[in-house]
Amino acid sequence: MSDAAQTPLNLYNSLTRSLETFEPVHAGEARVYSCGPTVYNYQHIGNMRAYIFADTLGRVLRWKGYELTHVINITDVGHLTSDADAGDDKMEKAAAQSGKDIWEIARHYTDAFWADIDALNITAPAKWSIATDHIEEMIAFAAKIADRHCYELESGLYFDSATVPDYGSLARAVTEDGEGRIGTVDGKRHQSDFAIWRKSPEGEQRQMEWDSPWGKGAPGWHLECSVMSMKYLGEKFDIHTGGIDHREIHHPNEIAQNQAHNCTAHSGANIWMHNNFLIDRSKDIGAGKMSKSSGDFLRLEKLVERGYHSYAYRMLCLQAHYRSELEFTWDNLLAALTRLKRILMGMQNLRARLPEWPEAKPTIGDAKVVQALADFDAAISADLNTPKALTIFEQLLDTKKVDVEEKYGALLKMDKVLGFRLTETIRETLRIRPMGTLLSPADIEERLAERTQARADKDFAKSDEIRDTLVGNRVEVMDGDPLQWDWILETS
Ligand code: AMP
Ligand code: ZN
Repeated sequence: MSDAAQTPLNLYNSLTRSLETFEPVHAGEARVYSCGPTVYNYQHIGNMRAYIFADTLGRVLRWKGYELTHVINITDVGHLTSDADAGDDKMEKAAAQSGKDIWEIARHYTDAFWADIDALNITAPAKWSIATDHIEEMIAFAAKIADRHCYELESGLYFDSATVPDYGSLARAVTEDGEGRIGTVDGKRHQSDFAIWRKSPEGEQRQMEWDSPWGKGAPGWHLECSVMSMKYLGEKFDIHTGGIDHREIHHPNEIAQNQAHNCTAHSGANIWMHNNFLIDRSKDIGAGKMSKSSGDFLRLEKLVERGYHSYAYRMLCLQAHYRSELEFTWDNLLAALTRLKRILMGMQNLRARLPEWPEAKPTIGDAKVVQALADFDAAISADLNTPKALTIFEQLLDTKKVDVEEKYGALLKMDKVLGFRLTETIRETLRIRPMGTLLSPADIEERLAERTQARADKDFAKSDEIRDTLVGNRVEVMDGDPLQWDWILETS
């Protein structure tokens, strides 16, 4: 345990709908599985919220001193356009629409996803687990449960949800949204039964298909997460995460498969955690859960093109509790960016006062610093209360009459959880040129120097002219800015 970790870690378990104290399955270790992206398209910023949440969980577990093993899967096969068994395979559909090779599509979107992961400073997991690398294991898993829990139809092998105890208890009441996404398949015994293996239709060759005891075809989407979580983390591991939509169908189905495979009522993970949705309110009309199906969604790249550093989005996410809905507007993003700028300015001022830089002093003895660390620990231990943790961080940053070295060391320690890389992120890092901006920072600095000279020479006409040119290039000149920025680029 790290010296600052005192409060027991309480996490909200969707299975029991209550806060539970984290007790690891293996002493000193934390094993976490997060449902990853389906790589038929780019991830939108709503999806990225799910990984910022999983990253925060991992960082908190590390803060608490656990040795973390985190696995995130990459779904490159099997996810249908409906969450259950109707519709096309998302990957096959994307390949057909673009005329591209399906493997190429998977590679392209996986790389784009990893670039976003990096840009948001999301810690890479111990394992990125690719679904198509595990087909044989999926077939073996399905074969083990086929006799007692499955039945075959023309379209594939189906899991009989009545063969496990308490099917769907994670979802509790299936909402209309969840129910609506369960497709109808002729011959299914229960509406909630789901495909374990989908046979390729007669006379149709798919780009991705494999031989199996149930004919040529591809695995059902839910199978991969059961197989890969069990392979890398064990039959019983600590925490399984995903977006709240997975609470309805995907995770109940994973649980049913785990129970069938392990011949136990245990769900596979002790704690199931779900982040709430990002709601898109960036448009005047049509606010709603950000989703890919509409085709109109915001990518991280779009934010950067408009002049917002990706850490502003990280800040926006941390300002909200992961179980609350979060509204996305450009104003909210700008406010998050400003908050981050203020923090960076505070860190810069603090560093200027340090006798040595950037080494942090290891021993903590100042009572104010000790208290701040304990408060921070209590906040993150209360089901990852990042909004409160951020405030505690800022309060310590503003605290006067305190040992500066200890204060700096404690802030960097907290940053290990917040994830803004405060040792290397400086105010200039946040200066991103929106697309279409012609002036480089060096050009701007040069003109500002000319303007300063003009003002010193009392040549106000020239000074105004320079300012107007800058404004015409979407550079706002910031005379007397409280955050001490000489200029900013207008975000759009
Ligand atoms: P997908 O690529 O669609 O499988 O989704 C990847 C992850 O993003 C899953 O954990 C989803 O539950 C989550 N997710 C999807 N939409 C949103 C949203 N609007 N806000 C937050 N998380 C989401
Ligand atoms: Zn999954």
